[in-house]
Amino acid sequence: MKTKLLFFLFLFLFVGCASKQKTIKIETIIEENNHYKIGINYPITEHQKIDRAITNYVNTSYQDFLNQQSKNISLDSLEELNIDYTLYQNKDLISITLFKTVNEEEDMQTYTYSYKKGDFLSLEDFVSSKDIYSTVNTILFERFGNVLDLSLLKKNLHTTLFSIDSEYLYLYYPPHTLSNTYLDTIMIDIPLEHLNIKQEKTVNVNHEVVPSEVDLEKVNSIIEMNKKVIALTFDDGPSSYTEEIISILKENDAVATFFILGNKVKTYENVLKKSLEYGNELGNHTFNHKWLTKLKDEEIKKQIQDTQDVIYETLGYTPVLFRPSYGSINKRVRSDISLDVVLWNIDTMDWKYKSVSKIKDRATINAEDGSIILMHDTYERTKKALPEIIKTLKEKDFVFVTISELKQIENLRKYNG
Ligand code: ZN
Repeated sequence: MKTKLLFFLFLFLFVGCASKQKTIKIETIIEENNHYKIGINYPITEHQKIDRAITNYVNTSYQDFLNQQSKNISLDSLEELNIDYTLYQNKDLISITLFKTVNEEEDMQTYTYSYKKGDFLSLEDFVSSKDIYSTVNTILFERFGNVLDLSLLKKNLHTTLFSIDSEYLYLYYPPHTLSNTYLDTIMIDIPLEHLNIKQEKTVNVNHEVVPSEVDLEKVNSIIEMNKKVIALTFDDGPSSYTEEIISILKENDAVATFFILGNKVKTYENVLKKSLEYGNELGNHTFNHKWLTKLKDEEIKKQIQDTQDVIYETLGYTPVLFRPSYGSINKRVRSDISLDVVLWNIDTMDWKYKSVSKIKDRATINAEDGSIILMHDTYERTKKALPEIIKTLKEKDFVFVTISELKQIENLRKYNG
């Protein structure tokens, strides 16, 4: 009896402590038209102060960009706004950095928030000027030499732009703070052990390998039945709707392929694991939805490799499929990619149409044997349309397959006449 009580007491304490670390969601805005492309991903922490600051920055950036667009409409202006983030969280604090790119121009904002204080932390809360000055001075000189004017460091040492994780303190110096000529933001990372700061290690990821092979038995049985097959695909996730979407699929004995963004994998680790267990396939959709045809070759390769790496590290799974952000691809981008590039032939336009029945109609009316349907698991309306889409396609005798299964089936049909 006593041990039982003790157990519950521990359970209560554990849950009580953990509750400070609230669930983090990643909000996504992806929009495009003939003149511009917008790709925004940012975290929502359920701590009002920090969420308000972040959404403020995002909304202002978004509105400024749109206002700028409406001012200079020219037929061949192809503008891009991208906002991405990094995030570190432990039981005491959360540290978030937002990186904004408007075309080639970069901007950033940092937020480090203490749960105990219920407020933002400044760099002085971690280190004093005395303790940090010589370290920063040495690192800057080693990395930048005489490019910077280090006499400016004393005055600007305590930058408001900083972040922290379990290993490093990151300091950012905007243009003109350390040099009158160097025009990029200067970033340095200082190992925490050099500063005598201790932060919790991030919880170790469980490296359980999930089998990613196609179930040939299932594929063959579909061929025998000679049923019509169809592949549902979802881009830009995961999001807070993904868990319900995979449940709807499972309840209806259906599977889909999710083209996911690398920067969300860690936040949605459990949903993604479940998704694989349910028989869905995961594909690579770049790390942060940058417009690939505008990037340099090495940046394109990094977008793809970073995503492959985080998926493998987090889920023990290696995607074999790639879908380019905005579906934008050319010969050069193709030559940088070794994964199978998958586009679509039915576009639900669920990012544009707000009506559930419209999305359902667009998904089902032109469906044919072998069709690939494009949707996004970032919209509630898409989640709402899904049961009807599945029902309608089942009534038309379609069987749901992943993209890899679809490819297998197409190959088998080719060789078996
Ligand atoms: Zn996309």
